[in-house]
Amino acid sequence: MQESELMVRRIKEGTVIDHIDEGKGLQVLGALQIDGGDGSLITIALNVPSGKFKKKDIIKVENKFLADDDTNKLAVIAPKATINIIKNYKLVEKRRASLPNEIDRIFRCSNPDCITNSSEHIESVMDVIDKEGTVLKCRYCSRVLDVNQLKYN
Ligand SMILES: [Zn+2]
Repeated sequence: MQESELMVRRIKEGTVIDHIDEGKGLQVLGALQIDGGDGSLITIALNVPSGKFKKKDIIKVENKFLADDDTNKLAVIAPKATINIIKNYKLVEKRRASLPNEIDRIFRCSNPDCITNSSEHIESVMDVIDKEGTVLKCRYCSRVLDVNQLKYN
């Protein structure tokens, strides 16, 4: 086990989101609506040394397992993140936050004139046109979206 893993208390059941890009941890918390409101143990470690010159953020959440929408949000905000599922203190599953080909509903198009922002109640559909660079494009208005400024629905 790495030293960085030991810095925070182990959890019995839940999810450890590791390798979040430095500085994105709080954004991930917000996007996943993790606020501790249900009394679950949450541990957040920011700027954890990772490798020689790099840093990362880590989030441990007890009693939470990410739904597909959560995984998609995570893939957009922190593409290098890994999702570790813990059961009975053991790591039972480890996966990358990988981007799907399209992301429906969860983000808002940044174009105020887009039909998805009108009163028509049309849900957003965004095509992932570059998975490496995390580039999303609105299917309705074709705007290429800045992933750092996306708002959540
Ligand atoms: Zn649009």
